[in-house]
Formats: sequence, structure tokens, C-alpha cells
Amino acid sequence: MTSRPIDRGCPFCPGNEEKTTAELYRIPGGRAGEGPGWRVRVVENKYPALGQLGGSHQALGRFWQIEPAVGRHEVIVETPAHDRELAGLGLEEVFEVMQAYRARFAAAAADPRVQHVVVFRNQGRLAHASLVHPHSQLAGLPFVPPFVADVLERSRAHAAESSTALLLEMVEEEVADGSRLVEGTERLATFVPFAAAHDHEVWIAPRYLPRRFDGVDDETLDQLGSALRRALRALAEALGDPDYNYILHAPPLRNDAEGVLPWYVQIIPRQSVGAGFEMGIGVRIVATAPEAAAEQLRSALGKVAAV
Ligand SMILES: [Zn+2]
Repeated sequence: MTSRPIDRGCPFCPGNEEKTTAELYRIPGGRAGEGPGWRVRVVENKYPALGQLGGSHQALGRFWQIEPAVGRHEVIVETPAHDRELAGLGLEEVFEVMQAYRARFAAAAADPRVQHVVVFRNQGRLAHASLVHPHSQLAGLPFVPPFVADVLERSRAHAAESSTALLLEMVEEEVADGSRLVEGTERLATFVPFAAAHDHEVWIAPRYLPRRFDGVDDETLDQLGSALRRALRALAEALGDPDYNYILHAPPLRNDAEGVLPWYVQIIPRQSVGAGFEMGIGVRIVATAPEAAAEQLRSALGKVAAV
């Protein structure tokens, strides 16, 4: 493929900065008068799912109610280069993307309207990426999503009986068992979860109770970026560059959740979509057993790590 570092029609390419909405953050780069002047750039989403202003709660009859979709929806432009996928960036560049996540998480957490922050990345058409230029998104929601509230409740119940967080205990079981482990470092474990809902789904989770994501130290952030890049490279090697989504799941901001629920990253390669069977019963079918997927990814990691 011909390298095309700049695309004139792309709003995220250098030189087109005026085509985006207000700039919220940048990591500066390049000498004065040379290059784009930035290495990572964050702007408001031009087509936000959540707006700055909204109405108020409305009850409509006995069954329905309307809540205003007020919050934050930002785009993190990961690199000035139009065609360099995140997995192909250098470690220092990935670290800078993680720094941008942390900085924007902090800004969202300081917003009194925001109850929950999620960072995600859509790669490729099957993952519903609307623009090619490498970017992630951050949403600051005015509510806690029901499944997060459910996980928090279970984590609280576990914490009441045990001295450690539920997810941390699960991660240590995965490390000890090893059959679904892709790799483990001192701080992080990368594994295919026991009940993976998607083929070759991968989680990267801390092995200790981390600080809230906006307070994570540089060393952890660096290791997270490195583990994420290795996992994406292993998936690309094993599955032939699949489209994917990844999500940085964090505990809700204001529910005193920090001590019982760590943040973690979930990577979902988009290989198949659910059909009537899954929709009808709410249970997913995977074609590859998690243990077999982990074995493939360990083998792939060995090949890409050697490059
Ligand atoms: Zn571009």
C-alpha cells in the first residue's frame, strides 16, 4: 500500500485543523514553523452523542421518561499521520496517546455533569469507524450505564466478604491457571476471559488496585500502552488485521467505586456479528474456545515480539 501520510480531505490531518471543532488539548511537537506543531490532538466530536446543553427530566405518562443527553464527547487524534494505525506507532507515540486519555479523563471527571467516563476506539468499517485517520473517542455520560452498575454491585458484595477486589482475584486466577493467559507482567495481565462473548476477545487488567485512571502514574501508563500495542499486534498477526473495538472500562466517578472495581481494557476483534440466535436468547456463540484463542495469541505474540 502506498504511504499516504496526509489526506487533503481529512479533517484530522495536519493543515486541516480549522475543519475540526474547538481544540481541547494537544501534545505539541515539531520545531517552530515545521511540521504540524502537534503529536496528539483532542477536539470535540463534530457529531456528538452528548451535547453541552439539554432540557430537563420529563415524565411522559405511566411508562416513559426523557433524560437530557448532556455530557462530553471528544475525539483523540492519535497521530498527525493519516495512515498509521495505533499498533504501528512507536512506543513513545502510544504512551502519548495514553497520556491524552489520562488528561481528558481528568477533565471529564472534573465536570459535575459527568457520572461515568468511557474511552473507546473503533478500527475499521466493521467496527464502525467513520474516518480512517487514527483516532479514539471519550464520552462523559450523565448517568452510570446499567451493566456498570451491575458489575459494581457484584464487586461491592464480593468486597464485603473478601479483602480484595473481585476483578483482581479473577485476574490472579487467570495468571495462576495460565490456559487463557496471553502474557503477564508485574503490573498487568493480558488474557482471554473465561466466558469470552466474542471470538478472540482480550482483556488487559491491572494486577493490583490501581488509582483512578486520571491519577495513574507514568510507569503504569507506559506499560498499559505497551501491553495494548502487543495485544493489537498479536491479534493482527493471528487473525490477519481484523477490524476491532477496544474500550477502557473505568468504575463510575462518584459512586465510591474506586476501592472495589479497577479499570481495565477490553479488545473485541470484529470477526462475526450476532444473528437471530444471539438476539433471541441473549447468549453469544464463539467459534474459538478461549483457551485455543489464548494459545494462538501467545504464539502470534512470540512472532511479533521478535520483529
Ligand atoms: Zn487524516
